[in-house]
Amino acid sequence: MGGFDLHTHTTFSDGTTTPEENVRDAVALGLEGLGITDHDTTAPFARALAAAEATDLEVVLGTEFSAEHDGRSVHVLGFWIDPGYAPLAEELDRLRHERRFRAERIVQRFQALDVPVSLERVLELAGEAPIGRPHIAQAVVETGAAGSTREVFDRYLADGGPAYVEKHAVDPVRAVELLVGACGVAVLAHPGLYGARDGQEGIGDGLVEAMVGAGLAGIEADHPDHTDAHRARYRDLARGLGLAVTAGSDFHGDAKTNRLGSATTSRAVVEELRVWRRA
Ligand code: AMP
Ligand code: ZN
Ligand code: FE
Ligand code: FE
Repeated sequence: MGGFDLHTHTTFSDGTTTPEENVRDAVALGLEGLGITDHDTTAPFARALAAAEATDLEVVLGTEFSAEHDGRSVHVLGFWIDPGYAPLAEELDRLRHERRFRAERIVQRFQALDVPVSLERVLELAGEAPIGRPHIAQAVVETGAAGSTREVFDRYLADGGPAYVEKHAVDPVRAVELLVGACGVAVLAHPGLYGARDGQEGIGDGLVEAMVGAGLAGIEADHPDHTDAHRARYRDLARGLGLAVTAGSDFHGDAKTNRLGSATTSRAVVEELRVWRRA
């Protein structure tokens, strides 16, 4: 199969597979490289590296960093980041605490909507991972209030939904600065998924240009949840701004239908990103 699947999650955030399983399955698929990009954490790095040691698979260690703009989540992938860079590590710590408080508030919203989900169960499902909406959605499904996590998102938890609570996160421009400060390469994740609201575009070209000013290196135009129109629009935007066009599956194990290796970045583009890092 070849190529690099640059965007995957594990049990270190809201995926259901371990880093070892992602590595094993990537090898079985014949991938050349695998991005490990859990939300707001660098905790899986050591395990992912150890798992890939005896294989030909190149692991790209990163994170999918939560930012927000105008009350909307914006995700920025950071590859090859130094986990010891204090300003980034501190913001990731703060975000994990924020996620804990937010989970409590989301659970209260569900209870007010007569969905008897418990915080204890959500914490149990998340384990050591930063708590994400998929953990809460799973706990809601267990109460019988919805048939699937998809339904929980559609009815309650999608951005702006009745049980949705924002996380207080940094602006996307600051997110790029922190990732670049940590010697990483910043790529805007799935820009087509930020959704239109109040008649506005999901993510405006102006914001992307400001992120470029802070050192953004690429745009993930190729994502399984993008329409053909999204792919074309963001590929053109990336080319116009001189950015790399990346692809990743956003694999989450059983928490999402996205299949590992269903979107891959060529080695040539990965090299382009590496050059960016040295520049
Ligand atoms: P959080 O980081 O807690 O805001 O949750 C973000 C995660 O929730 C994303 O990585 C997706 O896996 C999932 N997610 C967000 N919006 C939706 C949606 N509308 N439908 C299904 N999953 C979603
Ligand atoms: Zn996720
Ligand atoms: Fe994301
Ligand atoms: Fe993701």
